[in-house]
Amino acid sequence: MIDTIIRKDLENIKNTVKGDVFTDKKILITGGAGFIGSWICDLMTEFGAQIIVVDDLSTGKIKNIEHLTKQAHVRFVQTDICTFKSDEKFDYIIHLAGHASPDEYQTHPIETLQTSAVGTLVMAELARKNDATLLFSSTSETYGDTEIIPTPETYWGNVNPIGPRSCYDEGKRFAEALLMAYRKQYGLDVRIPRIFNSYGPRLREDGLYGRALSRFIAQALAKQNITVYGDGKQTRSFCYIADTVTGLLLLATNSEAIGEVVNVGNTQEVTILELAQKIKEITKSESPITFYPLPKDDPKRRCPDTTKLEKIVCWKPTIELQEGLQKTIKWFTK
Ligand code: UDP
Repeated sequence: MIDTIIRKDLENIKNTVKGDVFTDKKILITGGAGFIGSWICDLMTEFGAQIIVVDDLSTGKIKNIEHLTKQAHVRFVQTDICTFKSDEKFDYIIHLAGHASPDEYQTHPIETLQTSAVGTLVMAELARKNDATLLFSSTSETYGDTEIIPTPETYWGNVNPIGPRSCYDEGKRFAEALLMAYRKQYGLDVRIPRIFNSYGPRLREDGLYGRALSRFIAQALAKQNITVYGDGKQTRSFCYIADTVTGLLLLATNSEAIGEVVNVGNTQEVTILELAQKIKEITKSESPITFYPLPKDDPKRRCPDTTKLEKIVCWKPTIELQEGLQKTIKWFTK
């Protein structure tokens, strides 16, 4: 059963995205048991697509897609995408598998690089053989510690190639380069959204997998210290999941996105300390905010320039942080 908060958001997304292009299509979704992937699995099944979900459950959760796995048009394959093989004819490959949480990817740097490099090569080859559309989830991390705010797609990035975040940043940068090479050499239909800090229901908050936003919510609700790193003046721009997914699917359905990298994110920039305070306020929590050392190479500011997205799909993320946090906190409380 789909939770009522998620259900309402899914209906809103379906009002914006023309889902009929996916009806009766065969769609491979890597990382489909993950945070963003599970929302896309829900939508694709409701659009009438046949979906094959590939996930090794290293960071995703079966619980996210349990309500789908018994449906006739859904198949779940638990395996590492690097070893995935198939002779089936796919129309679309939505390639989302990856390790996105800094704590987690820094604990598994080799697997993180392999998923981005080898996994993306496997998906590029599958897409080429099938003449499929390949949508690849890239990241704002390709810009590293950016020097330009808001950051446009034309900025090349400021990344430490051997730093603690490089397994993620450089892995995604390699994947982008690889897919653009497939575009150039084979004319592959690739589309590369760069996703900026997405949040909402189903974002993991536990242990290594937690991101700042979900971890703060869990800490506030459990009356634990809210753990802000550094002085909390570093910024991020948080995009509510329904907006993120709408952006991704609009890019998947719009031919102007072919061969393009496009920022997908909300332009409302907040400091991490402001985020902690907002969460404390909405949860009415007594949790103290405590400060810990800032991790090495932590980007100082992050905010997307979404001009290109607006131009290509005539739409931009609009759900304000306050509203998105209220929904997310409600979901976590349940
Ligand atoms: N952060 C924090 N406390 C935490 C986890 C993260 O203050 O418990 C900070 C982190 O240093 C970064 C920001 O919050 O500046 C966002 O971190 P997140 O893990 O969400 O991912 P990132 O945006 O860095 O990829």
